[in-house]
Amino acid sequence: MSEQGIQASTVAPLIDEAARALEARVIAWRRDLHQNPELGNREFRTAGIVADHLRKLGLDEVRTGVAHTGVVGLLKGALPGPVVALRADMDALPVTEQVDVPFASKVKAMWNGEEAGVMHACGHDCHVAILMGVAEILAGLRAQLRGSVKFIFQPAEETPPEGEEGGAKLMIEQGALENPVPGAIFGLHVTSRQNVGTIGWRAGPTMASSDRFRITVQGKQTHGAAPWLGVDPIVTSAQIVLGLQTIVSRGMDIAKEPAVVTVGTIKGGVRENIIPDEVQMTGTIRSFDEGMRDDIHERVKSLAEAIAHGSRACCDVRLRKGYPVTVNDPKLTEAMVPTLERVAGAGNAILVPKVTGAEDFSFYQRIVPGFFFFIGVTPQGQDPAKAFANHSPKFFVDEAGLLLGMRALAHVACDWLEGRR
Ligand SMILES: [Zn+2]
Ligand SMILES: [Zn+2]
Repeated sequence: MSEQGIQASTVAPLIDEAARALEARVIAWRRDLHQNPELGNREFRTAGIVADHLRKLGLDEVRTGVAHTGVVGLLKGALPGPVVALRADMDALPVTEQVDVPFASKVKAMWNGEEAGVMHACGHDCHVAILMGVAEILAGLRAQLRGSVKFIFQPAEETPPEGEEGGAKLMIEQGALENPVPGAIFGLHVTSRQNVGTIGWRAGPTMASSDRFRITVQGKQTHGAAPWLGVDPIVTSAQIVLGLQTIVSRGMDIAKEPAVVTVGTIKGGVRENIIPDEVQMTGTIRSFDEGMRDDIHERVKSLAEAIAHGSRACCDVRLRKGYPVTVNDPKLTEAMVPTLERVAGAGNAILVPKVTGAEDFSFYQRIVPGFFFFIGVTPQGQDPAKAFANHSPKFFVDEAGLLLGMRALAHVACDWLEGRR
């Protein structure tokens, strides 16, 4: 595969030298961001730090306030060439930190009407620090840089607060991928599923689409001792829950792509001997193929309605599409894997399984070819399978992984820019 791949850029040794020199500052930035996390659409301080940094580096353009708090910077190289985009997400989660580090977050904020602890439990602090580092490396190489680099610092990847718009979709709507239009976009995510020193990658469908549903089953209230006088929404809901489990197991070609239908909440009734009027259920749908995704949606609705009808109940099914499938462009991935292998060293760029989590990086990939890969942050010698996962209050980042993230993103950008000559 490496023979077909893009060769190392002419600036490759300079990137490595600059990255090593920057490592301590990137870690310091990450700790500062970690101690001062901000929720989606509220990344005011973070965005301010990013914008100041990009301006100090002398970028040709720095746009702020994109999709609320997003920052888009443009660096024009001295040599003519194409445009590449690099993306980092900036938001933290409503999670109360339980990691024992001196820079642990003690921040609290309001989230959907309730006070919550705030923590960078998904590692977006690392993504911001890494991309700030990459911007500094590439700004220092401007005289040798072929083409332009767009730096996209995006808010609200973890979904915006209720009732607000935000994230990658809104960044695109507000022009993040225009003027100039990039020919490719790259992004990374730190993960506890891998050890420090490794890069995980996959071509094609890589992370799942994520959609929500809400099913309201309307019955007819009656005494629990006389069910024949009403319509029981609890028994009907139980049948719907089991029915929904047949959609994937009996209806989907799981040899093609996997899928998941989960009912996560079910609420109804107030007392053991009263059959209630109504039961509400919510759940999530994950898939790796847009056709299967639409098929599952149709089946959730028709099956729930048919079961309810057969039970003489009524049923209202609301489906809400979230993030699309994160699809790594196969050609772009194939071209860039040799770069990751070179940067990580022999055997350290590893093909990883699909992830049923979702990413709004997928919205960018619908517009330009994109490649999203994973950087290990579980300490070497520890079993990643036993590490606390991203989103856990105990999610731990070994900062030794940040240097590889910074080098990977900078090399991928420069190799791609020069490979397009
Ligand atoms: Zn996350
Ligand atoms: Zn994340």
